[in-house]
Amino acid sequence: MNPGRRAALPDLIVALEDMPPEGLERPLNLGPEALAALVAGDGEEPPSLITALTGTLRLRRLGARLEVRGSFRVEAAVACDRCLAPASAVLAGEIEESLPLAAAGRPEEADEDVLIVTDGRVDLGGLLAESFWLAWPYRFLCRPDCAGLCPTCGADLNQGACGCPPAAS
Ligand SMILES: [Zn+2]
Ligand SMILES: [Zn+2]
Repeated sequence: MNPGRRAALPDLIVALEDMPPEGLERPLNLGPEALAALVAGDGEEPPSLITALTGTLRLRRLGARLEVRGSFRVEAAVACDRCLAPASAVLAGEIEESLPLAAAGRPEEADEDVLIVTDGRVDLGGLLAESFWLAWPYRFLCRPDCAGLCPTCGADLNQGACGCPPAAS
């Protein structure tokens, strides 16, 4: 998890001292722009989101760890990997983590993500961004049998054959 230079979103900042022993539930409702800025890596094009991200996080402190469970959904504008047609995809993500809480400035343990505690607060932005990208479709097709584009003339083969001779491979 790298909190990096991400802008912190107030919805994702959790004050540990306010947390009751049984934990708490927090609704998520992050607007498309705020979410896109959160999940975009440094210098990367932010994803194009159509709806707000909605969902719920259930948080519980277990000693030196924070248990984070929840689910979310958001609709994103994507392009078909074969024919490039614009489409929309619903991303549905699950979060189920129990992460150690670490004081700011303490060396990180290499083998496990940690949540950095600053002034008694943790920022769940990095965790949410990671879960967002896990839910992102690795390969999106406008339909399972999309015919794609002709490699020779670029015609959309979903509209019919283009007349090019079959590609010699
Ligand atoms: Zn397609
Ligand atoms: Zn063609």
